[in-house]
Amino acid sequence: MTLLVVGSVAYDSVSTAAGTREDALGGSATYFSVSSSFFTKVSVVAVIGDDFLESDKKKLLDYKIDISNLSTESGNTFRWKGVYDTSDVNIRETLDTQLNVFENFNPILSKNNKQSDYLFLANIAPDLQMKTLTQMSKRPKIVALDTMNFWIDDHKKDLTSIIEKVDILFMDNKEISSFTGETNLIAAARRIEEIGPSTIVIKKGEHGVIMFNKGDVFTAPALPIENVIDPTGAGDSFAGGFMGYIAKTNDTSNQNLRRAIIAGSVMGSLAIEGFSIERFNKLTKNEIEDRFSRFIDITSFKTTGIT
Ligand code: AMP
Repeated sequence: MTLLVVGSVAYDSVSTAAGTREDALGGSATYFSVSSSFFTKVSVVAVIGDDFLESDKKKLLDYKIDISNLSTESGNTFRWKGVYDTSDVNIRETLDTQLNVFENFNPILSKNNKQSDYLFLANIAPDLQMKTLTQMSKRPKIVALDTMNFWIDDHKKDLTSIIEKVDILFMDNKEISSFTGETNLIAAARRIEEIGPSTIVIKKGEHGVIMFNKGDVFTAPALPIENVIDPTGAGDSFAGGFMGYIAKTNDTSNQNLRRAIIAGSVMGSLAIEGFSIERFNKLTKNEIEDRFSRFIDITSFKTTGIT
């Protein structure tokens, strides 16, 4: 099944305990599309500036990502700069965000992309997420959305308008608390259900993920990773694995959403083992399957009861 993503294609400058990278290929749509490409055909809607390197375009094409709706405008590509706490990778500070060509971006979808079966509104301005959704010529089977504090803090009204229209909402625990005003995750998920989405996926970094889906609750740990190089894009890679798996299987049942959570967790665990999208380079399906098996291994146990 076809999968479409709108989001940022960016140059990231990142500093972690493992080192630094300047202007490395990043962005929510980049991580999402590269990750999901291991499962299904994915198309990207985004804008890049005229400073975007041909070699970076080629990287996306190498994953067979459809970039026919990746438009080039004069000006600079979106830039994001962040630094991670050297003693706690869960703590990140955004030092700079430059929207650049995204300021005046008007996404135009091709005829094919308007008919995509699955749509992911990755982290980007809520009005661009809305402009993408409203162009769809048929309602996708699933519309999912991710966002971040940048938009929650300053664009809450627009963000709420688009959240009302989606099926699945991805947020991390801090974002959902700040958006809903609820510190308890069950209460926060309930607030979101009242607005519209029937599935809420709350990411908790190295503490895993919890999914609320129409009365069902599912939790998964994060795979313990010893060599965390750069957590940037973990959330988008997680979403890419999740949506890519659903699009590949074309199954939106609760059991399949649970499997998709693990597929997402596998891809998120890989993303953090390298800067930018480096870890996905030469990644094989066998490595993905191995990690999937490790997940089954670390989460299952035999029992005859506890009393
Ligand atoms: P994550 O680590 O999953 O939160 O994703 C980080 C990615 O999001 C980086 O590659 C950034 O380029 C991108 N990003 C950061 N801030 C924004 C923003 N305000 N809008 C869109 N994308 C962003």
